Amino acid sequence: MKNKDDIFKKVISHAKEYGFIFQSSEIYDGLSAVYDYAQYGAELKNNIRSYWWKAMVQMNENIVGIDAAIFMHPTTWKASGHVDAFNDPLIDNKDSKKRYRADVLIEDYAEKLNQKAEKEIAKAAKRFGDSFDREQFVSTHPRVIKYLAEKEDVLKRMALALDNENLADVKALIEELGIACPVSGSKNWTDVKQFNLMFGTKLGASADSAMDLYLRPETAQGIFVNFSNVQKTGRMKIPFGIAQTGKAFRNEIVARQFIFRMREFEQMEMQFFVRPGEEIKWYDHWKEKRLNWHLSLGLGKEKYRFHDHEKLAHYANAAADIEFDFPFGFKELEGIHSRTDFDLKAHEEHSGKKLQYFDHEVNKSYVPYVVETSIGLDRMFLAVFSTALQDEKLEDGSERVVLKLPSVLAPVKASVLPLVKKDGLPEIAREILDSLKYDFNVNYDEKDAIGRRYRRQDAIGTPFCITVDHETKEDGTVTIRHRDSMEQKRVKISDLRSIIHEEVSVGNWLKNV
Ligand code: ATP
Repeated sequence: MKNKDDIFKKVISHAKEYGFIFQSSEIYDGLSAVYDYAQYGAELKNNIRSYWWKAMVQMNENIVGIDAAIFMHPTTWKASGHVDAFNDPLIDNKDSKKRYRADVLIEDYAEKLNQKAEKEIAKAAKRFGDSFDREQFVSTHPRVIKYLAEKEDVLKRMALALDNENLADVKALIEELGIACPVSGSKNWTDVKQFNLMFGTKLGASADSAMDLYLRPETAQGIFVNFSNVQKTGRMKIPFGIAQTGKAFRNEIVARQFIFRMREFEQMEMQFFVRPGEEIKWYDHWKEKRLNWHLSLGLGKEKYRFHDHEKLAHYANAAADIEFDFPFGFKELEGIHSRTDFDLKAHEEHSGKKLQYFDHEVNKSYVPYVVETSIGLDRMFLAVFSTALQDEKLEDGSERVVLKLPSVLAPVKASVLPLVKKDGLPEIAREILDSLKYDFNVNYDEKDAIGRRYRRQDAIGTPFCITVDHETKEDGTVTIRHRDSMEQKRVKISDLRSIIHEEVSVGNWLKNV
């Protein structure tokens, strides 16, 4: 069994080697924390986006999708609170000169305590077998109680210090806990400072008339400022949602972990507008719905957990993350936030325009409350890709690398392979390719022995390999090999479309949401 670091390295190198993700501007030695999606990566990313869009927009009568611009009027960010409060607390280590997010250093410390408790629990579970009662053990075992209580204390103290903007106390906590720089082991820290994460730019050609703008740090505000436009033109009735996907930009202090934390990334967000007082009901609803969406992809229930926020953002009255078990541990994949009427009210104040809804059922106007679901497309890519990448030992002792992507998301759905490059087999293979390409992304490969071609498709996650051989010429049948079972069946060419469709159609997968 490889350790987590090795697995993560393998994920990164596989993504590059097989044409999923490249470092941006690699020929100039790359740009830190910026990545390009390559030929298969772009397909996989499109498929994830589309799976989300269909689940949110197409499957819900009361949700519509928009595509707002990245540039927005600068007052937007004043109203949203980003100009004043979109900061991260940063701290430098004086010896290693490395920069960290102070809150992340403390959270990592808390997570270590959690892991110590989990280790004890796992040991006991093994010892007691079926009779193990986790809840009882956690509430009575002195060491576990101590670890978990200490973890809670640390997180509470940090939340309090950050809430009160008491950065000196954040530093004091780091020192008290004896947190050392992960690179140098040094505990020689600077003071904690706030750092605004928005990228500034200018609109307009001449220096005097240019207007200071920001690249949007989240897609949500494009939805809020369009609330009335969409509600009126779409004759939307509360509760209803507006969804969108698109780029967001954050000048992250520490951008690491491949595409997990980037400076340019993509979000898929949905803002759901509800009657004030009903937000918690909808918050619970969307927590469940979103988890079901994840589970429908079959990566495994144990890969997800909820994390309810201790420290709420300035706009929220409830918030939770769906965390995913990435190669470097459980981390946030998606946020579900009950944002109250904070955003719409703030835009009303700053724009002087009413952003209200007349509710015929209760016969009054109000500013709706908002429950949002917000997921990073790149993080979802990493979740899917890292889980799917597997080393498999086969019965004959050989090994294969296989990307067991949910087939609905696979970049290529089927590869058509003539057994040999002669006897008219390539021509038949191309005919099959031409007949399938209107419905699916399919490819053709005639180079190398058939076994090697299978492995190439396994490595990019293609669910089906269709092999054309001499029998095909006689009876119009081909073999179809499934990526996961490697089982091969003989089927009629005319049945291929429905076999592939049955396995990859979005509709079939969405039925599980
Ligand atoms: P984190 O605490 O990890 O910085 P966040 O709480 O600031 O994330 P949100 O503002 O809630 O994140 O953004 C919603 C989603 O956008 C996140 O759940 C994540 O999937 C994605 N996301 C946020 N920042 C980044 C980033 N720098 N790179 C990639 N994805 C990101």
